[in-house]
Amino acid sequence: MFLDEFRSDFEKVESEIAMGPIVPAVTPEEIRSHLTSCYDFKKKMALEEVVADVENMLRTWQVQVTHPRYFGLFNPSVTLASVVAETLVAMYNPQLANWRTSPAGNEIEKHTLNWLIAKFGLPVNASATFTSGGSEANLSAVVVALTHAFPAFGEHGLRHLAALPMIYVTAEAHHSFNKIAHMTGLGRRALRTVATDSSLKLDMADLKRCVAEDRNNGFAPFMVVGAAGTTAAGAIDPLLEIGRFCREENLWFHVDAAWGGAAIISEKLRHHLTGIDTADSITCDAHKWLSVPMGAGMFFCRHPEAVAQAFRAEVSYMPKKTDRSVDDPYTTSAQWSRRFIGLKLFLALAQHGESGYVEMIEHQTQMGQVLRESLKSSGWRIINTTPFPLICFTREGLDTTQFLTALREQQIAWMSEASLNGTPVLRACITSFKTTEADIRWVVGEMNRLIDEGIGQCTSTQELLIPAQARNG
Ligand SMILES: *Cc1c(COP(=O)(O)O)cnc(C)c1O
Repeated sequence: MFLDEFRSDFEKVESEIAMGPIVPAVTPEEIRSHLTSCYDFKKKMALEEVVADVENMLRTWQVQVTHPRYFGLFNPSVTLASVVAETLVAMYNPQLANWRTSPAGNEIEKHTLNWLIAKFGLPVNASATFTSGGSEANLSAVVVALTHAFPAFGEHGLRHLAALPMIYVTAEAHHSFNKIAHMTGLGRRALRTVATDSSLKLDMADLKRCVAEDRNNGFAPFMVVGAAGTTAAGAIDPLLEIGRFCREENLWFHVDAAWGGAAIISEKLRHHLTGIDTADSITCDAHKWLSVPMGAGMFFCRHPEAVAQAFRAEVSYMPKKTDRSVDDPYTTSAQWSRRFIGLKLFLALAQHGESGYVEMIEHQTQMGQVLRESLKSSGWRIINTTPFPLICFTREGLDTTQFLTALREQQIAWMSEASLNGTPVLRACITSFKTTEADIRWVVGEMNRLIDEGIGQCTSTQELLIPAQARNG
C-alpha cells in the first residue's frame, strides 16, 4: 500500500468536501444524459479519465454524508484507517465463507467481535458475525429465534405450527422488522405493536397485556424487540425490564442497538444500555456510530447452538470441519460468499485505540448536548428525550418541510424530518466525529436567521400572500 500518498489524498478530499456543498441540485435526466453520452461501453477509456469523472459525479451529485454539517440518518464520517481497509480488502479479495480459505480474515474478525462481546457482557462463547447491515442482523435474529422456539420450523416451515408466532415491537421499531416478517413468511401482521410512553419507550404494562391477550387468543408469542436508540428519536426501551419479562415468559429478547450500541464502550454512557447483557441477541452496526464505511453490521447471539441450527448447511463441495475451535461463517449466517467486512473496524480500532473511539463517541454526545442547549436558548422546542446526540425539535407555527428545504438549498446543514406522536419535527443527529461546536453555533445562528426572515412560517400567513387566482388554479 502507498500509505503516504493515500493519506495526503484522503486529507485533501476530506477538506474539499468540508468546504463544498452538502446537498446536490440535480435531476435524474441530467445524470442519465451524461451517462448516455459519455459511456456507451463500446469505446475504451483511460482509467484516469473515468476515475476523475466518477469522482466529480460523487462530489456534485450526492448528499455529502461525511460533511461536518450533515446531521442526518446515522451515516458516519469515515476514518483514513477504515478507507485503507476497504482498499486492502478489494485488493486481496479474501473469501470469508469458510475458515480455511482465509484463516487471517476469519481470525481478525473473530478477534474484533470478541472485543464487543466482552463489552456487551455476553458470554465468551457467544456467536458473532459481521453482516451487510442492521437489517440482515435483525433478520438473523428473527430466523434464529424462530428456529429456537419452534424446532419444527426449519424442516416443515410455519404451516406445521399449531399457533401463529408473534413478535412484539413498538411503533418506533425499525421498518426492517416489517420486511423481515414478510420475508420469513410470518406475515406483517405477526408484528404486534406495543404502546410507548411519553418518551417513546416501550410501555411494559402494555407489553404484558399484549402477550397475555395473544396467549389467550391462541397465538404463540416468541420474541420481543427492544430498541437501544430508535431511528427517529433515539429512544431507549427499558432493556432490563424487558429482559426480565422475557425470561419469565420464555420469550426471545432481541436488542436492536444498530446505532446506539456503540455507546457500550464509554464508561460515561454505558449505563444507558443497562440490561443489554440479558439479551438473547443484539444488532449493532459498525457503519453507524463506529464510523466505518458501509456496509458493516454485526449480529451477536448468546446461543451459538441456536445459530448453528438455524444456518446449518451441508455442501458437497466443502470439506467437513476438522478443527472444532473454528467456525465457518457460511454455517453461522445467511451469507455464502463473504466479504472481509470486519477489517475496517479492526484497522480503525487498532490505530485509534479503544480510548480514541471512546473520545469520538463522547465528543459526538457532547456536540449533541451543545446543539440541544443552543436550540433551546433560541426558542426552539425539543420534542424527544435521549442521552444520545439526536435532537427532534420544532417551534410554534413551523412548516417543517418548507424550512428543511430552505436549510438544504442554502447549504446550511442536512437534517431530516420525522413525525413523533403525530407531530412533524426536524431531526438532527450528530453523525460525524468532525462536527465542532463552531459548526453547531453557526447552523443554529443561520436557522434563527431563516426564522427572522419568515421562512418556514405557519401556513395561515402564507395563504394571505397567495393571490386568489393561484389558489383557485
Ligand atoms: C439503521 C437501523 C437499522 C438498519 O440497519 P442497516 O444497517 O441500515 O440495515 C435497524 N435498526 C435501527 C434501530 C437502525 O437505526
